[in-house]
Amino acid sequence: MATQEPVENLMSWLRDAHAMEQQAEKMLSSMSARLEHYPVLKARIDQHIDETRGQQARLESCIRRLNGSPSTIKDMGGKLMAFAQGVSGMVMSDEVVKGAMSGYVFEHMEIASYTILIAAAEAARDRETQQVCEQNLREEQAMAEWLLQHLPEVTQAFLARSANPNTQAKR
Ligand code: MG
Ligand code: FE
Repeated sequence: MATQEPVENLMSWLRDAHAMEQQAEKMLSSMSARLEHYPVLKARIDQHIDETRGQQARLESCIRRLNGSPSTIKDMGGKLMAFAQGVSGMVMSDEVVKGAMSGYVFEHMEIASYTILIAAAEAARDRETQQVCEQNLREEQAMAEWLLQHLPEVTQAFLARSANPNTQAKR
């Protein structure tokens, strides 16, 4: 049977993570662009868009250091599209609530990805990649925690706007 060195799996998972972060940027950008009446949520999403771009750049530097070229960074081929569509199915009348919920779910996929990458980097004795993934992980955990803490507030604001004939609630 064909075998693979830890570093080969590490490289492959780094590429997956890079594609995941590109997807994250798309989702977050489309959410932010649509939000009108939820400035606190929008501001936190905008902050995380900046963090996400930094994460992409750090992952790219790990991929290059392991002799992968940027041209070999491949898309995950729609594996994450279901998540993305959960967020961008914008016909929903409660899209702010569904968006915050999907965002929370997506952050946890990122948390799982970086937890796996940290273990793989350790196995491959790639200390720099490990540190990069630990930093990215901390940002995902902070975003997930923020979303969890603000879900009640977003929901309450949505409900209040929904019950008022003069305010638009959905975004
Ligand atoms: Mg991320
Ligand atoms: Fe994230």
